[in-house]
Amino acid sequence: PVRVALAFPDVYEIGMSHLGLKILYKIINDIPYASAERVFAPWKDLEFQMREKNIPLCTLESNRPLIDFDIVGFSLQYELSYTTVLSMLKLGGIPYKSEERKIPPLIIAGGPCTVNPLPISPYFDAILIGDGEISIEKIIQTYYLWKNEGDSKRYSLLHELSKIDGMYVPSIHGESSKIKRFFIKSLDNVPYPDKPIVPYMSIIHDRLNIEVSRGCSMGCRFCQAGIIYRPVRERSPENVLSIVGKSLKNTGFEEVAFTSLSAGDYTYLLYVIKNFNRLYKEKKIAISLPSLRVSSINKELLQEIKSVRKTGFTIAPEAGTDRLRRVINKDFSHEDYERAVDTLFKEGWQNLKLYFMIGLPTETQEDIEAIYNTSLIALKTAKRYIRGFVNISIGISPFIPKPHTPFQWLGQEDTEELKRKKEYLKKKLNRKNFSIREHNINMSLLEAALSRGDKNISSLIENAWKIGCYLDSWSDIFDFNKWQNAMDITGIDIHRYARKAYDISETLPWDIIETGVNKEFLKKEFKKALQGETSIDCRKLCHNCGIYCNNIHKEETKPKQIENNYQIDFNIKASNKSLTYNNTAIVRSEFYTSGILKYLSHLELIKLILRAIRRAEIPVDYTRGFHPRPKVSFGPPLNVGIEGLNEYFDMVIFLPF
Ligand code: SF4
Repeated sequence: PVRVALAFPDVYEIGMSHLGLKILYKIINDIPYASAERVFAPWKDLEFQMREKNIPLCTLESNRPLIDFDIVGFSLQYELSYTTVLSMLKLGGIPYKSEERKIPPLIIAGGPCTVNPLPISPYFDAILIGDGEISIEKIIQTYYLWKNEGDSKRYSLLHELSKIDGMYVPSIHGESSKIKRFFIKSLDNVPYPDKPIVPYMSIIHDRLNIEVSRGCSMGCRFCQAGIIYRPVRERSPENVLSIVGKSLKNTGFEEVAFTSLSAGDYTYLLYVIKNFNRLYKEKKIAISLPSLRVSSINKELLQEIKSVRKTGFTIAPEAGTDRLRRVINKDFSHEDYERAVDTLFKEGWQNLKLYFMIGLPTETQEDIEAIYNTSLIALKTAKRYIRGFVNISIGISPFIPKPHTPFQWLGQEDTEELKRKKEYLKKKLNRKNFSIREHNINMSLLEAALSRGDKNISSLIENAWKIGCYLDSWSDIFDFNKWQNAMDITGIDIHRYARKAYDISETLPWDIIETGVNKEFLKKEFKKALQGETSIDCRKLCHNCGIYCNNIHKEETKPKQIENNYQIDFNIKASNKSLTYNNTAIVRSEFYTSGILKYLSHLELIKLILRAIRRAEIPVDYTRGFHPRPKVSFGPPLNVGIEGLNEYFDMVIFLPF
């Protein structure tokens, strides 16, 4: 068989929240002659111990070192994970440079960072640009044939891999070839993981994630994802609800997130949410959505979302003035924003996250002031409706002119100026007790340099890693002094890379990748931005970006009535109010925790048992009120690391059962 290690260059809590990993895990494990396992980066203290004691990095499933696999596939979601990739290879017993390695293992990469592959090209044998669903099967098939019928030569395998659509093989393609991003035409025709692994410990997105659509048509000019995931592909509502039904049954999750780059623009959002509530409201399964566009927030949607529980809410105005929003092509006005926050707080939300960027092209001090004023509007509106505690958190991130966007020709703003703007805003916002989620400016500088870099910057990555840089996306670990040292050693200045502006006619380091969106479109958008002109949603008017997706967008069809057969069929509906105390019973269950499970915290243990109860379809009673909770009570908590041999929990269940 072809043994694949799916490697995520960050810790378990982050990697296990990533949908792409789950999709590939399912696809590979469904191939009869292949198997997939997972491996994550150890936290810094463990990484140190492993290095000191020569303990190899192994996969979670079979505890086998990475060197023993046929393929190790890294998911590159953010540039600050590059040094972690090198550490994981080294810990796994694998030379980190492609040219110094034998195959197996074949080291490959995928994910959004690969749209500029040159900075990382020395470390990978092959890099996939675009969607992974179909390509991964081709990669494994190619490897299988090479392993069983091939000549065992490294070049033969790489040569065959280079023929796969979207595959960049650095040793064959060099720096001048053109590689076209590969994308799937429909989400409904590719597999989706409806039996994802349910983590025992808490992870950052600890819920069931259902990708309702991929791609975005709004054309925000700073957004790389908005370009590199084009065109918009929507999952059919029947498919969404079918996946929800199967996945809930298999996992026992208590919350479902409908995810997308712009979930508010999913054609069937309201329809899906209404049907979801019809099917699962009584099971107390809550809905959450990622950040919504201002224009997509409305009363009807909010009422559906809150019908079980009010999950967190995020809006990303990105800029404070209408003028700057026109520059970046954010499609809402000041009045739209006021209406959206008014609706939100009127419906009873008490938590709101607002995201802004600083250092955007053409930004002035007036725009910075407007970030404060825009935040203040939310606070004042909240106070009108809510007497108690309101938590409005403000995220401030420096703008990075990412490759393949209309702003790709610009450099990042000067670091000192970004710091000044951030401190100014922090001071003002602190006075009003906003909670602030700030982005480290030096981390952003590094991200800009690595995302806009060429092949030369790889020696900086290597040197930074050799002097101890690791898990750089964690602000409590990130050490800019070490990067500074690496700059001194290599003579490579990240400021120069981050700030470098290009002439519109120049060849860019990332031009070897063709995302499908052509440069003429990006140039037009860039010019429009500087003139403060907007481009409307391209589902309303195609701007001929080069994707030619007219044939892909589905015709608008009225959603069909969904059958009730996706329901989890509890024998008795838990919230049936006609049931009285006489219809319930208290059941005491005994359990024990030993082995590795003794390291779970009490809260993690509770979550694990509640999910098991849901999977077993035990009809538990719930508390009434705004935040219904299952009537399950546990004994006193044990310390982490202590085995419990006679543990108990009581649950109130409906009868008969
Ligand atoms: S071809 Fe037109 S509709 Fe399709 S992504 Fe490009 S601009 Fe949008």
